[in-house]
Amino acid sequence: MRESVLLSELTTLRVGGPALVAECGTTDALIATVRALDAAGVRVLLLAGGSNLLIDDAGFDGVVVRVGNNGVRLLGDSVVAEAGANWDEVVSLTVDFGLGGLECLSGIPGSAGATPVQNVGAYGVEVATLLRQVQLLDRETGEVRWVEPAELGFGYRTSVLKHSDAAVVLAVEFALDPTGLSAPLRYGELAKALGAGDGETRPAAAVRAEVLRLRAGKGMVLDPADHDTWSAGSFFTNPVVPEDRLPQVLAAIADHVGADVRVPTYPAPDGTKLSAGWLIERAGFAKGFPGADAAARLSTKHTLALTNRGSARAADIVALARTVRAGVRERFGVILEPEPVTVGVTL
Ligand SMILES: Cc1cc2nc3c(=O)[nH]c(=O)nc-3n(C[C@H](O)[C@H](O)[C@H](O)COP(=O)(O)OP(=O)(O)OC[C@H]3O[C@@H](n4cnc5c(N)ncnc54)[C@H](O)[C@@H]3O)c2cc1C
Repeated sequence: MRESVLLSELTTLRVGGPALVAECGTTDALIATVRALDAAGVRVLLLAGGSNLLIDDAGFDGVVVRVGNNGVRLLGDSVVAEAGANWDEVVSLTVDFGLGGLECLSGIPGSAGATPVQNVGAYGVEVATLLRQVQLLDRETGEVRWVEPAELGFGYRTSVLKHSDAAVVLAVEFALDPTGLSAPLRYGELAKALGAGDGETRPAAAVRAEVLRLRAGKGMVLDPADHDTWSAGSFFTNPVVPEDRLPQVLAAIADHVGADVRVPTYPAPDGTKLSAGWLIERAGFAKGFPGADAAARLSTKHTLALTNRGSARAADIVALARTVRAGVRERFGVILEPEPVTVGVTL
């Protein structure tokens, strides 16, 4: 057990105060540690890549369990990765071995085991559509078992595992395409860059290269030298507005930005999805808001990422998030929800 570890050293936002940290480099250690802490009634925070966490400056009053089991096995038409395996290394390995499916999810920081937690997605693909099974430690019963995706309640950037202490992901298995072709391309910007029509496929390696290029241009690939990537990725999820409220929201948008402006909208299961980045920008928060001297500011490449310019604390990130959220709410009546898991802070 390591004492007084600054969690700012373990998170990509690089904020978060001190905590006790238990390093778990194997699946057995992870199971034994979590079972023992649960039996002793100690609060546990699972932390792997720290790329989807906003932790308070006061730190965490319990034990941070670092998920570090990282074995990866390639099978003929699937890959099995232990939870702590670096996600992008898993994607890269599958592509290098001529297996298609995960390429659109290239360049996403963090661990393989965290991908089901928020149903990680990018460029038109979500892990829910590719997962074959997930190995869980049930923290109530102490039992270890493989479960099917249908049991995990996947939705847009969510699952039953998010905001829950019920289970630890120990390993994941993804079904892959042995022909080496990508998943059908559904994201306009990516398909266009690859000269593909909607739903067409391309060699996985070509798609991975293009995704990495597009992501880097938006500061969405970690780069220690670039403060635009000292973030938790997209800070807010795209809001889904129920159909009965949509006319009111569209009217507020038209009032503010003009009736002739086309509002990006996407059909969603429970209503219509709007673009959080677009709303933030139209509410008056430009890239780089509030300016070069601020400790926390919007990325200069992407309005949806809140970033640490080097000296920011959690309080600075929270203050910026509140300002942006209040502005969007006042102008358009839409409440943005944070995508990262917050620990000890509320917006
Ligand atoms: C630059 C950047 C770009 C990003 N782009 C994307 C993107 O395109 N799409 C996207 O979906 N996300 C994106 N993210 C968010 C983030 O990378 C993903 O959510 C990632 O899966 C988090 O993995 P992690 O290992 O860092 O999780 P952590 O931040 O360590 O943990 C996140 C949450 O999962 C829980 N958790 C972690 N491991 C386990 C486990 N084994 N079992 C149970 N619970 C666990 C934690 O307790 C916490 O609640 C981005 C982040 C950054 C910084």
